[in-house]
Amino acid sequence: MGLLIDKYGRELTYLRLSVTDRCNFRCYYCMPEEGMKFVHRSHLLSFDEMYQLASLFCSLGISKIRITGGEPFVRTGIIPFLRKLSQLPGLDEITITSNGTLQQRHIQALREMGISKINISLDSLDPDRFFHITRRDSFATVMSGIHDLMDAGFDVKLNCVVAENKNIEDILPFVALTKDYPLAVRFLEEMPFNGQETFTGAQWTYREIYEHISSAHPEIEKLPSEASSTSVNYKIPGYKGSFGIIPSFSRTFCGTCNRIRLSATGELRTCLYGPPVTNLKDVLRAGANVETLTQEILAAVANRAKDGFAAEAGNTVSLHESMSVLGG
Ligand code: SAM
Ligand code: SF4
Repeated sequence: MGLLIDKYGRELTYLRLSVTDRCNFRCYYCMPEEGMKFVHRSHLLSFDEMYQLASLFCSLGISKIRITGGEPFVRTGIIPFLRKLSQLPGLDEITITSNGTLQQRHIQALREMGISKINISLDSLDPDRFFHITRRDSFATVMSGIHDLMDAGFDVKLNCVVAENKNIEDILPFVALTKDYPLAVRFLEEMPFNGQETFTGAQWTYREIYEHISSAHPEIEKLPSEASSTSVNYKIPGYKGSFGIIPSFSRTFCGTCNRIRLSATGELRTCLYGPPVTNLKDVLRAGANVETLTQEILAAVANRAKDGFAAEAGNTVSLHESMSVLGG
């Protein structure tokens, strides 16, 4: 067993590492169309610092790292960093979350370093709705990128944030897509992290999404999930792929959550809904040695909130922050 165990007995084995706050999209649920202020490069963890911290996390029990952002592939130097990370002792798996526009020329390199799982965010199968949601005209690029990833043998998940007046018409077509493709579609409840104070609650929660799908497909089967999975998974008998629903706003999975997040600027969060508990870049740049950094991380984990509601109650600083800043 690792050392990252909170006071409720949950062991943290999964680090979500954000490599940048920048993005080439402007998804409405993540950031405003204009006026995003991205941090100066000097405030970002360098890749060397990220590697140093990832290495420390792995020595404490992290075995899986998800690379996220912002859009991870906009950061120059990401591929050499991933190559180095892929050789880190104790790290069993690296996965990536991306908007699917920029990975194309890196497919072979990713496969060579043993990365085989990628989540692509895709909220609509209709080019106009896609544009309305992302504010970018990149539907064709993302779709062809998804096909190329599948052809190259990647295990592809599609992340779809469900919201009224945005993409309800897409829910059943996404399920239909799993008939012929081995895709795992994940429907997410919308969360407040859009970089503005406009969020009034998720109208489409797990229950609404489930009922919408099951009334069209009464034959759906529940699939077994890993104990720490945030997604409740289903499939339609005979279909190649599957789909799942993530109660990201209802937060019914907190009791088994095994995640910890490091933002691109070094902020450590033990819950997405909570404030940063420390800034490891600042600690590192102040000259801390491994023991001091370890104490900082262990103290943060020990004080982890019981669930996302308790974390939210103690959060006065970052409840309306953009997901691109928090590291989705
Ligand atoms: N740019 C990459 C992407 O979009 O996949 C990685 C970063 S993005 C912040 C990570 C994930 O967070 C995406 O799947 C995105 O859909 C999700 N996300 C962002 N803002 C969200 C929100 N307010 N509610 C629910 N999910 C959100
Ligand atoms: Fe960019 Fe991802 Fe946020 Fe969309 S969800 S704006 S692709 S970081």
